[in-house]
This record gives sequence, C-alpha cells and structure tokens, in this order.
Amino acid sequence: MTEPTNAPRDPSGQPLEGTSPRVVDDLQCARCSYKLRGVAVDAQCPECGFAVAESIASRPPLPPLSPRAKFGGGILTIIWGTVPAIFGTALLFKIGSVAPWLKSHNEEGLLVYILLFAVFSGLGLLPTYSQAIVGGWAFGLLRGGFGGLVGFVGGATIGYLITKLVAGDGFRAWLDARPRTRVVREAFVESGFWKSFGTVALIRLNSPFALTNLAMSASGVHYVAYALGTAVGLAPRTFVSASIGAAAASQGQPDFQALAAKNPSTLVVLIVVAIAVAMCLSYGARAALKRAGLLEESTGPKAS
Ligand SMILES: [Zn+2]
Repeated sequence: MTEPTNAPRDPSGQPLEGTSPRVVDDLQCARCSYKLRGVAVDAQCPECGFAVAESIASRPPLPPLSPRAKFGGGILTIIWGTVPAIFGTALLFKIGSVAPWLKSHNEEGLLVYILLFAVFSGLGLLPTYSQAIVGGWAFGLLRGGFGGLVGFVGGATIGYLITKLVAGDGFRAWLDARPRTRVVREAFVESGFWKSFGTVALIRLNSPFALTNLAMSASGVHYVAYALGTAVGLAPRTFVSASIGAAAASQGQPDFQALAAKNPSTLVVLIVVAIAVAMCLSYGARAALKRAGLLEESTGPKAS
C-alpha cells in the first residue's frame, strides 16, 4: 500500500470528477489484476466489470501490526465499545442528584457541565445521549443543547489527542485491516476540506462517539474538518436529547424513577420519541453513507 500523492485519475491520466471515494493505493482487480487506483470504490473494474468493492473485500492480509498499534487500538476499542453504555445508564438513574447540583450553580454549573462533558465523552466514559439529557434536564433545551455541543467538540479533541498518543501512526495499518474503516480512511485521505467535513458530519449523525473519535483520528482527517463536522453532525441528537431532558424535568419529578412511578405514560412517550429520532437519524445517515460508498451491508454503526 502506498499513500496517495495526487488527485484520482482515470486510466488515461485525466483527473476524475465525482463524489464517491476512490481507490488510493495499488489495489488490483481480484479477477483481472487491472490496477484500480483512482477508480470509485462503488464502481466496476474498467477492464473486466468486476465490482471494485469485491476486490477491496478480498485484499490479501496486511503485514502484522506493531505491538503498540495492536495493543493500544485493541484496548481502546474494548473500553470505548462497552464503558459508555454502562456509565450512561448509571448517570440517568442518578439524574436526581446530578442535575439539581448543576442547576444550583447557574453559570458556573454550565461551565462545569461543559468541562465534565468534554472530559467524560473524550475519555470514552459516558455516551453523548445521556449527557445531553442531563444538560437539558438541568439547563433547558437551548443552554443544555449548546453546552452539550461545546462539550462534544472538546471531547472529540481529547479523543483525537488520546488516539495519537496511545496508538500512534501504526494505527493506520490496524484500520486498513478492516475493509470498512479502510474505505473511510481512504475517503479522508483523498478528500479536500469540505468533503471531509461533510463525511465527518454524516458519520457523526448516529455512531458511537468515542469509537468514532478513534477511527477518524487514526484516519488522518484534518483536525478542523473533524471538529466542525463533529459539531454539525452531533447537533441533531444533542438537541433532541436535551429536549427530552427538558421535557422530563418540566414534569416536576426529582428523577426518571419518580417520573416512571407518577406519570408512566409521559416517560413512555419520551422514550418512544427518542427511539424514533435515533432510528430516523440512523436510517438517513446510513443511506447517505451508502450512496457515498462509505458503508457496506449490515455493518452499520450503533448509537451510544
Ligand atoms: Zn478487472
């Protein structure tokens, strides 16, 4: 594999236009060995018509990873794949003690919320949904939502730095060993600023925060495109979560447990709305990513 040095070109050397990511290394067609550099990943081999995606999927295994990349990447994946769900549920059960404390400290409370939000999401300890619900409960839809978004960008920055520190550049090979993350990485490497920004925003619509920080940071995406795309892509789920928190708080109960006991139908409505919105975001993001050639069948990201 080699790094790309210039824009994709068709076989006669002309630059290609289009929106799909392109093969950026020396991949050969699995059927006829035609060199596929510059061909869109969702197209067919120009020589024999074999699907490029098939050739990507059947790449020979890559050379072994450095122990640091393997260990660092593996540990982060396990932690960031499991811990947020557990702690996030615990946080929602504790909302009765967390939210009033934040609320009673007004502006300082909002600042503390943003800082804690950045640290906990960046370290991959808490999922974004839970934290935004707490923000909406304590500060209302607008302040809770915007505070959450600022915290997210901080958290994404922390995740970016941790990934560079723990896994280093060797981590790219680790990503490239998986067809799906490889194709995302290639899209970033090959894309300009605005395309990268759009890709980040789409992926952020509905994918696990910490794991996505990991995959994107290791992909070599430009930091500013990463931070901006994160803010835009996370806005819908953050404001929906904050509005659910605000709506729940407006019922006048101390926490979700009390709300469930006193007014179960309201809680059920809120949960149904949350699930419906998450499903819509997931569906929309998957459709758009598929069109862009960034998502393969049945390997979609799960939200957290
Ligand atoms: Zn071919």
